[in-house]
Amino acid sequence: MAEILVDLDAVRHNVARLREVVAPAQLMVVVKADGYGHGMVAVARAAREAGADWLAVATPDEAVALRGAGDEGPLLCWLATPDQDYRPAVRFGVTLTAYDVAQLGRIVAAGATDVQLKVDTGLSRGGSTLASWAGLVSQARDLAVSVSGVWSHLACSDEPEHPANDAQEQAFREALATAEELGVDPGLRHLANSAAALLRPGSRFDAVRVGIATYGLTPAPQVASSADLGLRPAMTVRTELALVKPIVAGAGVSYGHTFVADRPMEVAVVPLGYGDGVPRHASSRAEVLVRGSRCPVLGRVCMDQLVVDVTGLGARAGDEVVLFGPGDAGEPLAQDWAEACGTISYEIVTRIGGTRVDRAYR
Ligand code: PLP
Repeated sequence: MAEILVDLDAVRHNVARLREVVAPAQLMVVVKADGYGHGMVAVARAAREAGADWLAVATPDEAVALRGAGDEGPLLCWLATPDQDYRPAVRFGVTLTAYDVAQLGRIVAAGATDVQLKVDTGLSRGGSTLASWAGLVSQARDLAVSVSGVWSHLACSDEPEHPANDAQEQAFREALATAEELGVDPGLRHLANSAAALLRPGSRFDAVRVGIATYGLTPAPQVASSADLGLRPAMTVRTELALVKPIVAGAGVSYGHTFVADRPMEVAVVPLGYGDGVPRHASSRAEVLVRGSRCPVLGRVCMDQLVVDVTGLGARAGDEVVLFGPGDAGEPLAQDWAEACGTISYEIVTRIGGTRVDRAYR
């Protein structure tokens, strides 16, 4: 019925393009959250084929799932609660990240022989505070675990001119210098996500952790589109019209009658709703493609369905309807949906799907 089509050629193209742009830095492709909704295992395979040096996920459980699916290359993860059992990830050769001394101790106790250390340079999220950094590095040295990388994460990289980027880069350099002064080689140094990797060459260090750009979506829509960046959106969301029918002038459409027809219209029912991850914020805001034309969503998105305006198109039940895709046939981009819904494309692609939507690859 409804389908998410993932173009793995587009993923391979994006990975190859990103490698070319960031070289000589290594490329770490982020496949967390089920590959940003594209399918972690399939994307991981495509990314390795296209030459990704590393893959990365958020949680050790995601890492173990990826190993279970046969992935074997360098793999980093960075998010766990204190009760996490690190042993399966360690057995599978996953590189774990420590934020503080207690976590480092648990990782080493699980048998890890290498670890990466994360320093918080200004996002105020995961990572050691600058004040505790020397203590964490010293502990790693004293535990005789190999530090295979030191990294941090940017807060404002989608605004390349934002002063926080310079401040974080500077803090990162200082943290690296501290590690060296304490006799610890920082190993692989990485700071940049997609936006920084593409738009701030000075932030690339030894590797970049690239998520959204892998999927062909721009990380900084105010600065550059996917096409400007040479990226191809990989996800298309499509289904078929369930019903087409006329409504009279004055008819209210969908719950709350937030849209009222001011003339006779033809409306169509699209069998996808917020139960399938279509944002309710798309109500009366987003558009879909039917018969080569952009058709506005009318009124509220429901749990299982939404209504679109197909007046004058001669549309029939069973016609293809595309919510978003690469834009080649005139359909909206995930970025267009993000703007219509007041969010970011990351949220659009990671949320769409669920038990009623098939995922297919081409
Ligand atoms: N690194 C970390 C720690 C992240 O949490 C993420 C994604 O949220 C990324 C890298 C990839 O970011 P992006 O998708 O903007 O490239």
